[in-house]
This record gives sequence, C-alpha cells and structure tokens, in this order.
Amino acid sequence: MSDETEHDHENDHEHDHVHERIDEDVTEREDWARRRRRDIPTGENLLVIACMDERIPVEEVLGLELGDAQIFRNAGGKVTADVIRSAALTTNFFDTDEIVVVNHTDCGMMSAPDEAIREGLEAQTGGLDDADIDPSLPELSLGDADVMDWIKTTDDIDEACAAQVAYLEQSSFVPDDVTITGYVYEVESGELRQPGDRIAEEISERRV
Ligand SMILES: [Zn+2]
Repeated sequence: MSDETEHDHENDHEHDHVHERIDEDVTEREDWARRRRRDIPTGENLLVIACMDERIPVEEVLGLELGDAQIFRNAGGKVTADVIRSAALTTNFFDTDEIVVVNHTDCGMMSAPDEAIREGLEAQTGGLDDADIDPSLPELSLGDADVMDWIKTTDDIDEACAAQVAYLEQSSFVPDDVTITGYVYEVESGELRQPGDRIAEEISERRV
C-alpha cells in the first residue's frame, strides 16, 4: 500500500456525511424525550432516596450524571408512603434494580423538638384530625397514628438510615432482587460513610 492510498483511506474513514451525524442526534434526542414510552431505563437502573437538605450534592457525591438515576428527595430522606409508591413503580415497571438511601449528619429531622413541631402543625391546620395528608386521597388520614410518626424525626442518623433500608427491603411493593444500600453523608467532610461507621469520631477520640 502506497503512502498516498493509506492517506486517502484514512480520510475516507474519518469522513461522515453530515446527515448521519444529524440523524444520530435526532434519534438520541427522541430517545431522551420518549424514554418512558420506549422502555429505556435510567443509565444506572437506580433510584436514590435522599434528604431535601440543600447541602447534599446528591449527584456529585454518588458520581451520577443527568439521566443516570431517578432521585426522590424529602425531609429527612425517609421512606414515606410516596417513596414506597415511587419505588414500586420504578422497580416493577422501569427496570430499576438498585435503590440507594442518602441520609446526612446535622439533619433538621434531628434538631427539631417534637413538641414544637406538633404544636406548630396543630396551629397551622386548625386540627390535625381533620387535616388531609393527601389532597387527592381524603380516605387516607392519620387515623389513630401520632403525627410525629408521620413527620419522622430522628435521634440517631445511622440507626435511621439502616431503618430506611430495612423498610424498603421489607416492602411487598419492592421486588426481592432489588439491591438496597444506605449511606450517611457527612456535611462536615463532604464524604459518605456506611451507617454505623463513624470514622471521624473513632479516630478523633483516645483509645482506652
Ligand atoms: Zn436532612
């Protein structure tokens, strides 16, 4: 093969028709816009449950790009009725096979005193017994439940994190082969740790 032919061959190889590139872009865009109806799952087949706290960079700390995961954030990153509803849909119908729970240190759910919350909500609603907890589902009320069990404050974030994982594992709405993991995000260090694994505390205290 002469130098010239090789050169021409390389040029041929590098040359794409403009319409091919555009067609590819169009297909990609259509797939993106119609992912659900085309049964395209998230990039990582992942649902993340995290606290709504503004200090948690959920995507960054889990190494996620747009499109990789569905992310459900609520006060405390707690497994509520709507988390179960969302997990049920994504694991049964959208090919999601992994759930990650992210709780964090210094969570507002740990600092708010129960009585203050109870009194505040009582005053706001004018009576917790008659207050709708789901406007489209008035049948669903707190009933005999304590409003604080609905609010879900926490004393120990590591225990709370492990409990959220257990709630998802025990839910009959979530298939048994879904992998469920929980992490505590330390707002002080910007790192994740496994629940119960308080490295910072361990290494900053004298060993006895
Ligand atoms: Zn929080």
